[in-house]
Amino acid sequence: MNSPKNNPAKPTVIIIGRPNVGKSTLFNRLVGKKLALVDDQPGVTRDRRLGDAEIAGLQFTVVDTAGWEDEDELTLPGRMRKQTEASLEGADAAMFVVDARAGLTPLDNEIARYLREHDVPIVLVANKAEGKSGESGVLEAYSLGFGEPVAVSAEHGEGIADLFGGLWPIIGEQADAAEAAANAPLEEGEEAPLGPLKLAIVGRPNAGKSTLINRLLGEDRLLTGPEAGITRDSIAIDWEWEDKRSGTTREIRLIDTAGMRKKRNVTEKLEKLSVADARRAVDFAEVVVLLLDATQGLEHQDLKIAALALEEGRALMVAINKWDIAEDASSLFNGIKAALYDGLAQVRGLPVFSVSAKTGKGLDTMLGAAFTLRDSWSKRVPTAALNRWFDDALAANPPPAPGGRRIKLRYITQAGTRPPRFVIFGSRLDDLPKSYERYLINGIRSKLGFDAVPVRVTLKSAK
Ligand code: GDP
Ligand code: GDP
Repeated sequence: MNSPKNNPAKPTVIIIGRPNVGKSTLFNRLVGKKLALVDDQPGVTRDRRLGDAEIAGLQFTVVDTAGWEDEDELTLPGRMRKQTEASLEGADAAMFVVDARAGLTPLDNEIARYLREHDVPIVLVANKAEGKSGESGVLEAYSLGFGEPVAVSAEHGEGIADLFGGLWPIIGEQADAAEAAANAPLEEGEEAPLGPLKLAIVGRPNAGKSTLINRLLGEDRLLTGPEAGITRDSIAIDWEWEDKRSGTTREIRLIDTAGMRKKRNVTEKLEKLSVADARRAVDFAEVVVLLLDATQGLEHQDLKIAALALEEGRALMVAINKWDIAEDASSLFNGIKAALYDGLAQVRGLPVFSVSAKTGKGLDTMLGAAFTLRDSWSKRVPTAALNRWFDDALAANPPPAPGGRRIKLRYITQAGTRPPRFVIFGSRLDDLPKSYERYLINGIRSKLGFDAVPVRVTLKSAK
């Protein structure tokens, strides 16, 4: 039903190259925000990272990879290479970046050899090409056998428009189709094809995010280990979940972030960018899972992360992890649930689950609920049903009449989905008490099936 054909995805372009050629700088330039970590230290970009990129209207998802170093598999760089290979599989095009100033190195040639073994179309990018000192490097890059290099300066923003010429023939058609699908107006009652569930796992350091994701994927795809902050950035992974209850396979795109850490042993720069990264993960996600640690309980920072997700209009659920070692389980569960309800007035009936990333307990239930939650987050209520509810709600509890003049509420329409947005038209709306607005919002939530998702309501004067 939700085949990629119905809902063409934005093309994905991966940035590949040896350390220090300027991949992260190029990523930042394309995404237009300072999100990737730029550092002179090779290999500072350790995991894949996603961004929404645009060049002259051409929209695509750009993936920044780890630095490329061919070393023993057991070392961190060796494992990074594995991740690069995994991202290549899902890419529609690759930008192979070389350093026009430094000239080609044996590693560049090795990467070129490797890329030739893959089917991914390559756009060769000679970076750091500003000024004279890049000229010979640009020429030298021809020898890699990927045709004419696009000379750019990621740092100075030169040549970026030329990248359009390189990418357009490869991904233009797909980008157009994706944009058209995203902008197509929905007919009343029609449901948008939903595509893979975009799921973000967020939470404080050590809540068990990496362990959880590894458990879900059933393989050691994330770099877990005792090193603090090893997954420094957000990464995305596409996979298929076997939904045993319905006997179907469902597509999930996981966005993981290890951000929001508040450890003292990371530098301020990493700290700041990691929080930005968690925001980014929330941006990308449809459903955000806030992971708590049963042995730590709920802290102020957890509520902040939850509020951030709701402010961004995401569907939110909470999973209390490490249930295998939880003490006094039922009072712990109820305590956390009550504290969440108190702390987050924006939603009612926030789904809360107990899970164990270690044993796998509760994970299938949690994922099933994530799909259900997305359904209501994406749901459109037909106008007739909506106004039937509205009339009933007004009849049951008429709006007040300050100064003897009744506030008129005429009708309601659903302006959008994901998150659900409603507009109520009426007159003398400035006089409408907040409490009455809340009454209507609570009605939308409980009577129209938007229980656990953030709902937006705007009041508009009807002319
Ligand atoms: P990565 O390891 O490939 O991600 O490389 P980075 O993006 O971290 O960049 C490595 C270094 O090259 C940094 O010091 C950047 O400031 C520098 N750099 C990146 N792009 C350019 C460029 O266009 N011109 C020059 N001169 N330096 C650049
Ligand atoms: P992250 O910082 O959120 O990615 O957390 P990690 O996945 O690195 O996990 C932090 C620690 O908690 C590790 O020592 C894990 O082995 C442990 N851990 C994670 N999930 C569970 C769980 O369900 N049960 C138990 N007992 N330990 C867990």
